[in-house]
Amino acid sequence: MRSPLRFQVGGTLMPGISVYVKRSEDRQFLDWAVEKKGWANIYGVRTNGKSSLYAQHLSTLQARRIKAITVDVAAQVGYTPGTARDWVFALGEAISAELCIESRLLTGPLMGLHSHAPAGTALERLFVDGVLEHCKERIVLVLDEYDCIRQQPYCDDLLFAIRHIQALQARSKLLDRLSVCLVGLQPLARLGTPGAANTSPIAIPIEVLDFDKTPETVNSLMAGFEADQRPASSVLRRVLELSGGQPLITMELLRKARQSRCLRPADVDRVARDLVADSGLGRDLQLFVAIEQALVNEGGNAFAALSAYESLLQQRREAHSAPGADLLLTCGLVRRNGDRLEIKGELFARRFDNAWVQRMLSRTASGMEQHRGKVASDDLARGRTRSRSSRGGPKGKICVINTGGTLGMVERGDKVVPPRDADEFKGYFTSLASVAEEIEFINLFPPRDSINVFPDQWRTIARYIHNRRNEGFQGFVVAHGTDTMAYSASAVAFALGPQLRFPVVFTGAQTTPDVVFGDAHVNLYRACEVAKKPIPEVVISFGNFVYRAVRAQKRDDRRFDGFESPTYPPLAEITGEINVRQELLRPLPKKIVDIELRDEFEQSVLIVPQFPGLEPDFFEHLLQNGSSQQCIGVIVQTLGAGNVTSESPYSFIPFVARAYRQGIPVIVTSQYPPDPGTHTKYTPAQAPIKAGAIHAGNMTLAAAVVKFRWVLAQVRKREDWLNMGPARKKELVSRLMVGKSVVGEF
Ligand code: ASP
Repeated sequence: MRSPLRFQVGGTLMPGISVYVKRSEDRQFLDWAVEKKGWANIYGVRTNGKSSLYAQHLSTLQARRIKAITVDVAAQVGYTPGTARDWVFALGEAISAELCIESRLLTGPLMGLHSHAPAGTALERLFVDGVLEHCKERIVLVLDEYDCIRQQPYCDDLLFAIRHIQALQARSKLLDRLSVCLVGLQPLARLGTPGAANTSPIAIPIEVLDFDKTPETVNSLMAGFEADQRPASSVLRRVLELSGGQPLITMELLRKARQSRCLRPADVDRVARDLVADSGLGRDLQLFVAIEQALVNEGGNAFAALSAYESLLQQRREAHSAPGADLLLTCGLVRRNGDRLEIKGELFARRFDNAWVQRMLSRTASGMEQHRGKVASDDLARGRTRSRSSRGGPKGKICVINTGGTLGMVERGDKVVPPRDADEFKGYFTSLASVAEEIEFINLFPPRDSINVFPDQWRTIARYIHNRRNEGFQGFVVAHGTDTMAYSASAVAFALGPQLRFPVVFTGAQTTPDVVFGDAHVNLYRACEVAKKPIPEVVISFGNFVYRAVRAQKRDDRRFDGFESPTYPPLAEITGEINVRQELLRPLPKKIVDIELRDEFEQSVLIVPQFPGLEPDFFEHLLQNGSSQQCIGVIVQTLGAGNVTSESPYSFIPFVARAYRQGIPVIVTSQYPPDPGTHTKYTPAQAPIKAGAIHAGNMTLAAAVVKFRWVLAQVRKREDWLNMGPARKKELVSRLMVGKSVVGEF
């Protein structure tokens, strides 16, 4: 009679009826629950059994005379418009329903409070004068789905209120009988606004993980079979391999395995094949659909997550720390193993394969309309007169991607922090309404200081633009920190390549948008105007000029003319008009050929600086074969035309020669783009070339570094690369690196 319910799929497991697999988290919870005045934070991805965990132990708590009150915050308190006090009031009502007492007994003490009273005061009254007054036992208050408070404008306030309660508990006896367990997807520390550090409550973290594959787990699962129908334990181990120990999938597989009387591991494989089709085409599991939906719901953020996942499938190292990784974890697609991400199990790998990523990437790009900060200029311009001057005006459609940097930062407390989402960013620039008929604002990943924009993000930006290239945008604007803007913009230029037919305009600012006389607004407006011009290039628009990205570099951290283009004139000057110098633009290819996205950038490239007296020995071991981090390419960054220290004891020439012999391509760049050819005049500049290096010509440092990584990624894909001699390798790299200008970089 009990059997159909044993392997329960979905919902909180029924204690004593459904099969429950104990994990170390159970012990942590029970140990915590006996502590007085304890705060715990159970967290983990959806369907991992967080609610089942505490539900399983409620009877133990009862036996210890601890009253457990469980409130589902999302369902019972919900989204409470108004103030934090109103939220506490709604919480009081939910608790009273659980205790089966009249709600005014708990909410009465809040009545006298002004609606803007601090949440801490309200919560204190609710607990001290309400809950503890009417419930005389020890209490464990479980707030499930607590992290839905993130959506409330007063989230920080509530966190601060929790801190207040904790402080009160520490210094008085009033709240001795109260313990609180916060259950949700995210650890508590992630909930508050960065910078509002004093709002971070302290709680013992209990992370709920997938089942392990130990004999104990196998034994617990075995209990779900009737004594006379127990399969061999190899069957259960196979189930765990397929499900990766993800609780819901494990139960689903087991339920089927039991129905179909699987006696051998191969039978489980058959069942699994019936349950989920490859790559999610056709039959599917509820959880898999939910994971996919969770990603789609994230709109633009999913793009970075999918790129990170693609990197993981390709076993690229950067996947583990990519900004999209967090979303992959919270939606339950992958899990962490130490500091690495891993795919949970065979079914996951089969269902979420490369073909799936590609389908999702195009779907995410075109189907996220409702999730984007889509702004018709009418909305923005509410109450304003629209200018339709010939100097621009609300025509066309552009897409603004915010990646971070000073341009979009705000001061919160004593910190400068990025906006929470695309909507907040959009809110700083409402008067952009006069620039275009339609502007889409998008965050592809959490905005950041540009020093934390990595090749993975370059790829994300390039792919996003590529995916949406045929959607009628006149141009794309990328708001970016100035420090590495030249790198990201160059990378996007190489990735999109010479067939680009519309403007991609990077811009940033020296001041935050609240500085009235600053450059944030001006630069973003101008970039949007530039994005409407027929400029088929990736450019940097900064101050009064528009530069070709692969020729531009940062020159100052404060001046509004913070960029320069030392070897090529600006493509446009911004005065009363935007005067594009057509003759300087790259000619559009005569034949319309679609963009071929080439967005791979090789990792493990070493930059060796030059300064007087730098010892080459520091770097020698990096060339050693079999060193943990194999060096793939070397960039010697010189101080002038390309002169490399050539006299002992500091000569770097042996280092260059050794790298060359080992088949590690070496290029020579300069901290500023040198005059082409001058290096041939100097002996110290000739020496590295003779030793096998390639001179990067007059490319900017950013363009040279980015292009080198881009070139290496392409040549190293060749099957014969590993068997090639150094001379052939050098020839191949040279041909792409300096033999041909791809997007006008020299
Ligand atoms: N450090 C900042 C960044 O590059 C500076 C800026 O935004 O201009 O992100």
